[in-house]
Amino acid sequence: MMGAAAVAAGQQAHGGSGSVADDSAFGDQSHLFPACLVLNADFSPLSYVPLSLWSWKDTVRAVFRGSAQVVTEYDEWIVRSPNLDLNLPSVIALKEYVPTCTKHPAAFTRRNVYLRDGFTCQYCNEPFPTKVLTYDHVVPVSKGGRNTWDNVVTCCTYCNSKKGNRLLRDLRGEMKLKTAPYMPSRFELHQKARAFPPKDMHADWKGYV
Ligand SMILES: [Zn+2]
Repeated sequence: MMGAAAVAAGQQAHGGSGSVADDSAFGDQSHLFPACLVLNADFSPLSYVPLSLWSWKDTVRAVFRGSAQVVTEYDEWIVRSPNLDLNLPSVIALKEYVPTCTKHPAAFTRRNVYLRDGFTCQYCNEPFPTKVLTYDHVVPVSKGGRNTWDNVVTCCTYCNSKKGNRLLRDLRGEMKLKTAPYMPSRFELHQKARAFPPKDMHADWKGYV
């Protein structure tokens, strides 16, 4: 959902004048313009992890170049050029299919670790909002633990501070891992990403993610 400031910028874009994809026409507010979901030619997202989102400039360029078709548009966001007014696309689809490989390991990022673990603390087994979650190094960094898929789990801040710098064997069963950490495939994360879509998803994107 867009904030009031973004809507105001959209109204300014509507009433302004300038060239398509020329952000000078919109002062310094064009950075507020919403992103566009990019689908492959089969209408599945070009990428789930992270979700394939393009800036309004890249989106407009792709449409004008003819490499993508508009699927849905933002009603309230209009880019005005001397010859054409264009509603900003909210979803576009590439006209040529881009092969995607889901067998390779997924990138080791905070969100991907949370995704692998279902946004659930791996010690108390409770799901939490992202702001309450953190990383836990099963073998603490201070004890030689690495920042890798097989040593990092999703953890709530309470369990994280309770475990502190200790090894699991030092806790004598007081804390146990729900699932041993592992490197997920992109395919697994794609599946989980569909179950845990970003909270700021625009309504137009939901039918494709
Ligand atoms: Zn916990």
